[in-house]
Amino acid sequence: MVGEHYRSLLKDVSTLAEVDNYSRWRQQESETLSDLVQNRLEELQNPPNWFTAKQLLCKLEKGCGFGCQLHHIVYCFIVAYSTQRMLVLDYKHWVYGDIWQEIFLPLSDSKTLLKNVSIDQWPGNQDSQIIHLPPVDYVYPKPYFLPQIIPDDLAERLTVLHGDPIVWWIGQIVKYLLRPRKSTINLLNDYAKKLKFQKPIVGVHIRRTDKLISEAQLHTLDEYMVHVENYYKQKELSGEVNQKRIYLATDEPILFDEAKRKYPEYEIVGSDDISKTASLRNRNSKNALQGLIVDIHFLSLSDHLVCTFSSQLCRIAYEIMNSLYPDASTRYTSLDDIYYFGGQNYRLNEAVLSHKTNNQYEIDLQVGDQIYVFGNHWNGYSKGKNLRTKRIGLYPTFKVIPKIQSAKITGNGVKIS
Ligand code: GDP
Repeated sequence: MVGEHYRSLLKDVSTLAEVDNYSRWRQQESETLSDLVQNRLEELQNPPNWFTAKQLLCKLEKGCGFGCQLHHIVYCFIVAYSTQRMLVLDYKHWVYGDIWQEIFLPLSDSKTLLKNVSIDQWPGNQDSQIIHLPPVDYVYPKPYFLPQIIPDDLAERLTVLHGDPIVWWIGQIVKYLLRPRKSTINLLNDYAKKLKFQKPIVGVHIRRTDKLISEAQLHTLDEYMVHVENYYKQKELSGEVNQKRIYLATDEPILFDEAKRKYPEYEIVGSDDISKTASLRNRNSKNALQGLIVDIHFLSLSDHLVCTFSSQLCRIAYEIMNSLYPDASTRYTSLDDIYYFGGQNYRLNEAVLSHKTNNQYEIDLQVGDQIYVFGNHWNGYSKGKNLRTKRIGLYPTFKVIPKIQSAKITGNGVKIS
């Protein structure tokens, strides 16, 4: 009964958004804001006098997976945008080097690193022609405008439009970086036909293999499917579902058989051949990168995403999803972490209801308190540090909202905290 009541409330909330006569406005506002950011990035990358334009150099030599590498570039791009420098990527030692350039459009139209110019190390100064930015793990001083900060000239509009503006902002950077070449668009269209991708569909990403060594815990297929079932039960309240489907992406190919065997009422969309290319041995091949792009693409196109946010790949799919919908901030279920950006400054909650502790594990809240968030336990409680009382502990998640953090990004040189 409680489950049914909960789903019916969720249905009412989503219906409200459909009948408030603002859905067209939301769509338009989201497109306008996206165009604004995409144009700014395009201008940044294609300055009229590029041989005098200030540049930010980002070397791609991190030894990690695709999601981790892409987020490294996103971080570089945020710093480039915030310091108004054209971003130049050094592909020389990059595992994806040539393959990447075959799949995606270049960041700039045929402009590269300036030759015979000295390169200053971060943070350099306003006059530095080229500044080299180290990876976020080593950057010092740390730029103040990294996530969870969003540019303040977008903040007001984004806060009205979107439930989690930081995801929207990062989604826009990813959107620019992953502009597909014509051949990639054809590849994705071919796969859509081959896999018979259609809605409704829930994207399920199950990360296993090397991730389980020390970075994440194992979750069974059934744990993911509970949330898929919930999604469809809620949909059924509106009488909309005639076939339940999941798009399955995983680096553990045997899960395709398990899913088909255990969930015969589901159409299992996805490719176990792609999954085979996700094994550690094959990951850096062109085949594997193409497969990965296909998986991320269809996960992001799904109606809802069930995955683990400890995986960068799952976070990327969610970021892209938020560049496709006016607001996709509730279209996910993470089995572990809350959404975060590696190397981010911090994430804050703000109390909207007061709370008195019921036991030694909880912390008090007063309306307006700011809480530095450690994580969500997904059982009704989050854990964090109340910045007023300095106490660390659990608090009911429904008594807080995300605190939107924005800052003026002046665009004239390097400002650091
Ligand atoms: P994380 O390690 O999960 O945080 O994400 P990364 O993207 O940094 O590294 C994971 C790597 O595993 C990816 O780059 C892929 O090569 C591979 N991989 C993991 N899950 C999948 C999947 O569902 N599909 C495909 N095609 N590859 C995957």
